[in-house]
Amino acid sequence: MESDSGEFGSILYECVRCSITVPLEELNKLPEIKCICGYRILKKIRPSVAKVIKSY
Ligand SMILES: [Zn+2]
Repeated sequence: MESDSGEFGSILYECVRCSITVPLEELNKLPEIKCICGYRILKKIRPSVAKVIKSY
């Protein structure tokens, strides 16, 4: 059984200006989605190791 729905914590956002990465949970603490440099355009980064494929 897989339980990969509703899993938080591994989503990162990258600032397009300074390329710093901020986890989503950090952004949720802020009143608005914004980088520490003040830039508001952040792109979502998907972790490359999202799933482990089992082979039988
Ligand atoms: Zn930035």
